[in-house]
Amino acid sequence: MSTSTYNLLKKHFMPELSMSSIFILQARILKLSHVTVSYDCCLNTCCCFTGTYAGLDSCPFCKHAWYNSEGHSYKKYKYLPIEPHIKSLYLTDHYAKVLRYCTLPRDSEIEDVFDGIHYRMLCQTQVMIDGAELDHHFFSDI
Ligand SMILES: [Zn+2]
Repeated sequence: MSTSTYNLLKKHFMPELSMSSIFILQARILKLSHVTVSYDCCLNTCCCFTGTYAGLDSCPFCKHAWYNSEGHSYKKYKYLPIEPHIKSLYLTDHYAKVLRYCTLPRDSEIEDVFDGIHYRMLCQTQVMIDGAELDHHFFSDI
């Protein structure tokens, strides 16, 4: 979320919550997460200079330069990859058991999505991509 979007939400939808500034919020997230990935991005948040945009000198959408006169990116995009967070949940016995609850015996016929007809049908269905049937079912441990 960009700073301007955060400030708009703060101003229009949550004035009574006395939300922190986005800089304080980002600092707290960084401190709690321990894992962030940072990419250079356009000053106007049009794109990240990665992948097909990694070799450019300016934004392909608004044409703003990637670097300032000191050779630094005008803006950084930081995000929290979900994979390390999910892995860390499995590191404690308690959460590992909680996350495997869908494999436990059930007391009633329908308790959650894992008892639904659609989910159970997909668990018996081979995954197909572009017409090619893969050798595993939906939601299976590959
Ligand atoms: Zn741009």
